[in-house]
Amino acid sequence: MELAVFSAKPYDEDYLTSANEAHGHELVFLEARLDPDTATLASGKEAVSIFVNDIASRPVLETLAHHGTRLLALRSAGFNHVDLEAAADSGLTVVRVPEYSPYAVAEFTVGMMLALGRKYHRAQNRVREGNFSLEGLMGFDLHSRTVGIVGTGKIGLVLAAILRGFGCRVVAYDPYPSDEAVALGVTYMSLDGLLGASDIVTLHCPLTPETHHLINEGTLQLMKPGVVLINTSRGALIDTEAVIDALKEGRIGHLGLDVYEEESDLFFEDRSDTIIQDDVFSRLLTFPNALVTGHQAFFTHNAMVEIAETTMANISAFAAGRLSGNEISLEST
Ligand code: NAD
Repeated sequence: MELAVFSAKPYDEDYLTSANEAHGHELVFLEARLDPDTATLASGKEAVSIFVNDIASRPVLETLAHHGTRLLALRSAGFNHVDLEAAADSGLTVVRVPEYSPYAVAEFTVGMMLALGRKYHRAQNRVREGNFSLEGLMGFDLHSRTVGIVGTGKIGLVLAAILRGFGCRVVAYDPYPSDEAVALGVTYMSLDGLLGASDIVTLHCPLTPETHHLINEGTLQLMKPGVVLINTSRGALIDTEAVIDALKEGRIGHLGLDVYEEESDLFFEDRSDTIIQDDVFSRLLTFPNALVTGHQAFFTHNAMVEIAETTMANISAFAAGRLSGNEISLEST
């Protein structure tokens, strides 16, 4: 099958080419992000593969379908960027990689907690400048802290297991509580209850209309003063401007973000020679108690192997007229 790979970085090319050895599809790698202006680059390609910041809106999907595309293969678990109704209307099958390495994201999240709590990033800068003072580097133990996990799916569960190992009390909110989490010693509570009880709040639910700006001015008021807030899920789960206000007032003690609601115009590119025009993002970078990374929590060798292999298996199943089990539609969500 012919596959156009949008937002293809050199590492995508390496991993997908290697995974494709067992499948023999014809791959065309495109650096461009999929959007209304670039959709025709996939003309004649039956399959198109996209990543998290590609735009799969109705006009884009209609253009793809019009030019012969029948399969949209996401190289991600999240699918909030795909208009599934438009995909169905255009006759496009959509497949994703539901699970690659929940460990990658869960471990990165713990790394953020530790880095913020113990100020690794600030200490590194100091030591490099010959400043060995400990003033301002006072941290806190993770042991005995209450961590609130919003969303105990694959990533949330791995995170809960790791945090139990640290001796944390783990509480959670999920509309579909998991027996596995309870067996790990996790206590389920309402979202409001979790926000009021947690020293650290970490988000691991998908972005949906229901979870959009889950963290907002109102829910921030419910949190403990000095709370640590971590988001390695999707940027629009939090209202960034409300979070900035809470940082300015000291209501948030530490903030860790791997995702940002307007990240699609910033992340995954080297912009070090350009002036960042997004003043909200720039303000975030000024806080000494905020750690911001560019959507890299998934980015491990293990995860990249899984993403590439599952993507190729999804495409082969479609080409053979089989279901891969990784199809998504409005009905399945
Ligand atoms: P998952 O589908 O296994 O789990 C999601 C959980 O969220 C489910 O248990 C679901 O019941 C729960 N949920 C749904 N609505 C909720 C709500 N309103 N409140 C609380 N919980 C709710 O997904 P996963 O593999 O654990 O991934 C979680 C999210 O992490 C993904 O949706 C994706 O956005 C994000 N992610 C980020 C990266 C990264 O690199 N930063 C990588 C992979 C995934």
